[in-house]
Amino acid sequence: MSAPYRIGYGEDAHRLEAGRPLVLGGVPVPHAPLGAVAHSDGDAALHALADALLSGLALGDIGQYFPDTAAECKDLDSAVIVARALELVRGRGYRPVNVALVVTLDRPKLGPLRAAIARRMAELLSLPETEVGVSFKTSEGLAPAHVQARATVLLARLDP
Ligand SMILES: [Zn+2]
Repeated sequence: MSAPYRIGYGEDAHRLEAGRPLVLGGVPVPHAPLGAVAHSDGDAALHALADALLSGLALGDIGQYFPDTAAECKDLDSAVIVARALELVRGRGYRPVNVALVVTLDRPKLGPLRAAIARRMAELLSLPETEVGVSFKTSEGLAPAHVQARATVLLARLDP
C-alpha cells in the first residue's frame, strides 16, 4: 500500500548573462540586469517545482522528459514542464497539497514579486495561493551571476 503522503524536493540553477530575460515562477522579472542562460525559458523556480513533483513519486527528473538537446524544448514555456509533471503525479493517484519555494538571486530584489509568483505557481497546480510559500535569499555576493531555486512539495494520495 502506498503512503498517504509523499514529500518531493527539487532544485535548479541557471547562469545569468546580460541581455536575456529573467522569468521566475512563471513571472517575468522587470528590470533584471541579467537573465538566464538556458535552452528553455530558464525558469529556475518552475524547474525546481517540476523536479519536486517528480521526485515525490520517484519519477525521475525533468531532464528525462524534456532533454535540453531536444529541438522542441528550445525556448519552451516552463509551465508546460510543470503541467507534464503534474499529469504524471495525478496519474499515480496523488495531488500536491502545498509547496515551499526558495529562490536565491542577488539582483534585483524579488520581494515585490512574491505575491505574483505564489499566485502563478498556485494556478499551475490548481491550489489556493496560500498553499505556495515563497522565500527569497541573496548569495551575499558569492554568486552574482547565478539564479538558484529549491522547492519542496507535499503530495497526498487522492483516495486514501
Ligand atoms: Zn532550469
